[in-house]
Amino acid sequence: MECRICGAIDEHRTYTAKEMMLGMRDEHRYFECKQCGCLQIVTIPPDLARYYPADYYSYSDAEKSVNPLKKALIRMRDTWAATRHCQMGRLLHFVSPNDKLTSLRPLKLTKGMRVLDVGCGAGHLLLSLYEAGFTQVLGIDPFNREDIAYRNGLRIEKRDIFSETAQWDVVMFHHSFEHLVEQQATLQQAYDILKPGGMVLLRVPTVSSFAWQHYGVHWVQLDAPRHLYLHSLQSIQMLAKQTGFTLEQTLYDSNAFQFWGSEQYEQNIPLQDPRSYAVAPQNAPFDAQRIRDFATRANELNAAQQGDQAAFYLRKPG
Ligand SMILES: [Zn+2]
Repeated sequence: MECRICGAIDEHRTYTAKEMMLGMRDEHRYFECKQCGCLQIVTIPPDLARYYPADYYSYSDAEKSVNPLKKALIRMRDTWAATRHCQMGRLLHFVSPNDKLTSLRPLKLTKGMRVLDVGCGAGHLLLSLYEAGFTQVLGIDPFNREDIAYRNGLRIEKRDIFSETAQWDVVMFHHSFEHLVEQQATLQQAYDILKPGGMVLLRVPTVSSFAWQHYGVHWVQLDAPRHLYLHSLQSIQMLAKQTGFTLEQTLYDSNAFQFWGSEQYEQNIPLQDPRSYAVAPQNAPFDAQRIRDFATRANELNAAQQGDQAAFYLRKPG
């Protein structure tokens, strides 16, 4: 078998993983490249769409009607989360954090910067950013049902990155890149639409982690067959080099999900099962203390660069 990332042809080790998010339990083969470590699906299913049910993305709660005061407080909190500016926001973030936005800090965003979010779904993250004053942002996702025009002016367009021609300061992929068939071509296109000195943020699950070593095919973020590529630190470095980027920084940002999700899969409990912690915490095989312990352990793993997901910051030369 030939690795689609580094091209190594070898007797790569193979694994069989089941579809466990929806609970279909059909089997899919993966191989782990001996050279670059990237875990990848052997055959890309021709009918991938059937693994994305109509309610895969949540649209219903993206634009809740909240009262103006709450909206203002959220705006301050999210400004702090994304930029570390706004002292009032710092306090609010401490009380009620928005962890999704903290991955943006190393990008050093300013409000006039042009940010493209690829594979953004309903665009929840962009809505937070837009409300915090970042209005030069756009979301695209070819798997959405249709274009979305939010009342505040944010647009989400139904298309892929290859249709994009404008120039951007930041192109980001929040847990979307691992779903894409064309890894090099996608990153190359991101390079081409970035201004010199611009950055790509890639947030993906990674096999350079305790969870993959410990749980193997029961690792919840393997997510067969939707995740086509589970990168290693080495295969990300390989991709960056192939496409002209410099890998500037890597931040592990995993959470308790890697434990409770994987332990459920070991017990043959799908993510969308009535016994799942995601569906009904009171029916799940974990008490509140156990979940807190998982969160503590996740923070320890992140500090040791062993969490099961990371944010990779790639710079286009200036
Ligand atoms: Zn490889």
